[in-house]
Amino acid sequence: MSETEFITFGCRLNTYESEVMRDHAAKVGLKDAIVFNTCAVTAEATRQARQAIRRAHREKPNAKIIVTGCAAQTTPEMFAEMPEVSMVLGNEEKLQPQNWLPGANDRVRVNEIMSPRKNHLHMIDGLTERTRAFVQVQNGCDHRCTFCIIPFGRGNSRSVEIPAAVEQVRRLVSNGHAEVVLSGVDITSWGADLAGVPKLGALVSRILSQVPDLKRLRLSSIDSIETDPELMDVMAGEQRLMPHVHLSLQSGDNMILKRMKRRHAREDSIAFCRELRSRRPDMVFGADIIAGFPTETDEMFENSLRIIDECELTYLHVFPFSPRPETPAARMPQVDKAVIKERAQRLRAKGEAGLAAFLRSSVGATQRVLIETENAGRNEQFAQVRFTQSLSPGAIVTAHITGAQPTYVEARLSA
Ligand code: SF4
Repeated sequence: MSETEFITFGCRLNTYESEVMRDHAAKVGLKDAIVFNTCAVTAEATRQARQAIRRAHREKPNAKIIVTGCAAQTTPEMFAEMPEVSMVLGNEEKLQPQNWLPGANDRVRVNEIMSPRKNHLHMIDGLTERTRAFVQVQNGCDHRCTFCIIPFGRGNSRSVEIPAAVEQVRRLVSNGHAEVVLSGVDITSWGADLAGVPKLGALVSRILSQVPDLKRLRLSSIDSIETDPELMDVMAGEQRLMPHVHLSLQSGDNMILKRMKRRHAREDSIAFCRELRSRRPDMVFGADIIAGFPTETDEMFENSLRIIDECELTYLHVFPFSPRPETPAARMPQVDKAVIKERAQRLRAKGEAGLAAFLRSSVGATQRVLIETENAGRNEQFAQVRFTQSLSPGAIVTAHITGAQPTYVEARLSA
């Protein structure tokens, strides 16, 4: 009898939720099962999950295969039709212990994802094989960007109450996690559904003040146009909040942003980065950018290329546009696939050049690094740091940067 295996695709929320499911499965003694926690952000992500399921079944024909996550939530029938699959669970159902009990016989348990109104935090003690712990403080999304399928996988925005979030962070810290990443689908909308409509800045301040032993707090992706003044103050002034912000930028062209139904203009993103960097000079920015959104002309694309310099972006996540079924963008005039590919390559090349230059500029510096594997970790600005000697994962060390490679820096321990 072998332990239940968890194969997680996609975002930090899925990683966190796989840990919750691991607890549920262990409590009921589930054995000889493989759980696929899927992602639906692109057609490719769904295809990879189906491929992995077939492969797993070939390798372990007797294992019970359970499929959950956003691809299971948005297209349950697609997985229910697969002979390899034993059970399909929705994104809410996967977190409910009763669905893991032996004898839970109905094969498909996927409810209407827009119905949940509350976000109950399922406490975990830690993340398996990870030093950085993700805490889901918000789920779902009230926006309807024209290219995005996420709200249909995760429902409307729901926030975790402050006391539960503080308790979760406290528990992870007392179990040895030196860094916590506050995660959500649209974390800057945290609090909109809570009494008194608190803002994300209030949650971050409360966690930092009520968990003094927390060494490093990091935010997952944010929507700059939704940041509140208290959050700006904490990001600018609190050393335990890491100087690294990842923006959900999506495009550098205002007409495309309008057609995406985004809430910001390019000028807002540039002003946000400049203000934060003027208040905290070591702040670095990452961003998601879509290449080849429908109707994007060469000139519009140049605006996306230019914003990389105007915001001085260091970490670039480039997404070649992939039409998701049922989304408005899928019905818009599409850009030629070869053009999408070429634009994605140009964005990636520019991003890689920016990262390499940033890493080179840190040679000679002394930095604090959280060790994540035997000889590698991340500094406060999220750069990857590699050592020649073996170090213990979970420790925060002071390192002297001795060299730079295109995607990481080399270091030795400071004397
Ligand atoms: S903000 Fe837009 S892109 Fe982000 S999850 Fe919501 S709908 Fe999707």
